[in-house]
Amino acid sequence: MVDEKSKLKSLSNIASIDITLEFDAVLQNILKITCETMNAHSGTMMLVDENNELVMVASYGLAHDYPKRVHEAAKKAGVSLTFSPSGAVLETGKCYLVPNVFKEPRCTPWDDLSKEFGFSSQIFTPMKRGLKVIGLLNVYMADPHHFTEEEINFVTIAASQASSVVQNARMCTSLKSNIQELKEYKERLEEKIKETHEKLYDSERYLRAIIESSLDGIAVMDEQGRIEFGNDSFFNIIGWPRKKIIGQFFIKIVPYDINGFCLNMWHEVQSGAGDRSEARIKTKDGEMRYLLVSHALAEIKGKKKCVVIVKNISEYKKLELELKESEARYRELFENASDFIWTSDVKGRLLAINNSGLDIFGCTRYEIIGTHFSKWFTPESIKAIQEYLEKQISGEVVEQPINVEAVSKNGGHRWLEIGARAIKEGDSITGIHGIGRDITEKKILEQRLKKYHEKLKKSYEELKEADRMKTEFISNISHELFTPITSINGFVELLHDDAMGRVNDEQKRCLEIIHRNADRLSRLIKELLDAARLEKNDLEFQFGFVSLNSILLKSIEDIYPQAKNKQITIIQNIGPLPLILGDEERLTQVTINLLANAIKFTPQRGRITVTAGEDTDQIKISIRDTGIGIPADKLSRIFDRFYQIDGSTSRKYGGIGLGLSICKGIIEKHNGLIWAESDGNGSTFHVVLPKTSEEGNLDA
Ligand code: ADP
Repeated sequence: MVDEKSKLKSLSNIASIDITLEFDAVLQNILKITCETMNAHSGTMMLVDENNELVMVASYGLAHDYPKRVHEAAKKAGVSLTFSPSGAVLETGKCYLVPNVFKEPRCTPWDDLSKEFGFSSQIFTPMKRGLKVIGLLNVYMADPHHFTEEEINFVTIAASQASSVVQNARMCTSLKSNIQELKEYKERLEEKIKETHEKLYDSERYLRAIIESSLDGIAVMDEQGRIEFGNDSFFNIIGWPRKKIIGQFFIKIVPYDINGFCLNMWHEVQSGAGDRSEARIKTKDGEMRYLLVSHALAEIKGKKKCVVIVKNISEYKKLELELKESEARYRELFENASDFIWTSDVKGRLLAINNSGLDIFGCTRYEIIGTHFSKWFTPESIKAIQEYLEKQISGEVVEQPINVEAVSKNGGHRWLEIGARAIKEGDSITGIHGIGRDITEKKILEQRLKKYHEKLKKSYEELKEADRMKTEFISNISHELFTPITSINGFVELLHDDAMGRVNDEQKRCLEIIHRNADRLSRLIKELLDAARLEKNDLEFQFGFVSLNSILLKSIEDIYPQAKNKQITIIQNIGPLPLILGDEERLTQVTINLLANAIKFTPQRGRITVTAGEDTDQIKISIRDTGIGIPADKLSRIFDRFYQIDGSTSRKYGGIGLGLSICKGIIEKHNGLIWAESDGNGSTFHVVLPKTSEEGNLDA
């Protein structure tokens, strides 16, 4: 048997086994050292598994298939391993000695195996943790053997060592797996942290992009109101450069007059009140801007902050202001318009009316608003208005305003001219908008005018009738006068020619005076008759080709004695003129009349110039005198019937004011023109006659 020294060495060897080796190798080593120290034939080590079954974990000096053979033998014998000495150790927790296997009943099932493998004695030692048997260390000797106290002690110590190793190894394994788990956990954690970091980074980037690209200004202020951060839009909106504002109190950009108001608001915001307000600020260049400010309190890194979002609403404010002004202007216009303006709903209930309207209806706004228009018009007008509005609503184009009769509160009637149009919202009509004016005065005037007009018309008709009767009378009386004068002249001539016996010279002179005056009378009657016939358009004309040269010469010759009487010179400036189609007697009547007037209104030793010439399509005759002239404003009137410039002239110069009107009538019958001119040196009468074409057509 082993000595003390090698036993100790063996134990120290066992203790110094590298337990970091594989678990099986460690157990194998312990078994090997124990068996070698014991000079044993062989040995086994078994452990109790979780099912309380024994499992061989190491063997020494035995063939590989030994454990399998042990189990097979047990099966063959119909016993379990617990029947073996190992089972006894498990039960008792103590060593089990088998000095001779062939004499040990517990070994009987495996006798053959013992013989075959060549061992004869065995020691079974428990491996324990506390009181619990966790396995067995078994040493087999070749010969039958009585195990000594020392040998038992040694194997027991070795078993206890093995038990420690098993426990350590088990702990190690579990530690190892714990460490592995921890490692994996750590890796997973690191992965997670990385992921979270990335997410956080992404969301921060995202948030930053939003803040930077936002059109709204975004800023952060500290608890005292100092601006700590602002995006580009913020600085654009407030109109201050970033470096002038960061770190400054917000009040710096607030106009002085609303400092107090803004500070109050700041305190309210700090106490959590309100989330939106309007504010006015001043840019660096002094421009006023209106902002819409939203704010929210936030805690960033343990400090209270105020996040502010601003929008520039200056344009909107400006528009709002303009709108207000234009509304006020419109209201002013509406209220003070001289026309009456109203709005009604589609059913005709009045919704609005201006002051002029109230004046017309003689009522207050309170009395008229909400009433139906029919309350304020006569039945006939209501019908007219209804038809008019229906047309408007049905979309018919009605441009003409209508005249209607309104009834005021106290029953007075007024005439109104009204126009209206439908108020449309999209496709539907929501009301009627109208304008009107009081035309009562106009109506009264119109009525008066109408009456006046009727009266005038009647007078005109009466006058026309009187004029016709006068003309009729003149033409009748002229005829009646002509006959006696012809007879007077005939008898005067007979007397003058001594046909009724001899008359002396004095009597002859008397007869000559009678004859001259009768002649003058007959001329006047002729004029009257001509004028009357011209007016009735039945003066007869004998048209034929006539020479104006001979007409002018004959007229001058005829008139010559009168000119000579007043020592008036007649200057002729007459070129050769073509024949024209005309009435010789009537044209001669015109030239004689003009020449006679010239002589009549020209003083002694005056001068008369007769000019005549032609151009392409007309002949012009002018008779100019150096007489009393004609005032400019009378030039056209002298051609009117019975017109004489001055009543006194008729007495001084004679005549009845018909000559020129007859001349005008005759010239117009020849499609010609006659007019007069006058300057400080006398008058000129012009006559223009159209030339006659080859065919002699007057209407050329
Ligand atoms: P009366 O027979 O009265 O002359 P007329 O019709 O021939 O009537 O002339 C109308 C009026 O025109 C005359 O009364 C005269 O006042 C004015 N009148 C006509 N011819 C001349 C003239 N050559 N010079 C100045 N006044 C003239």
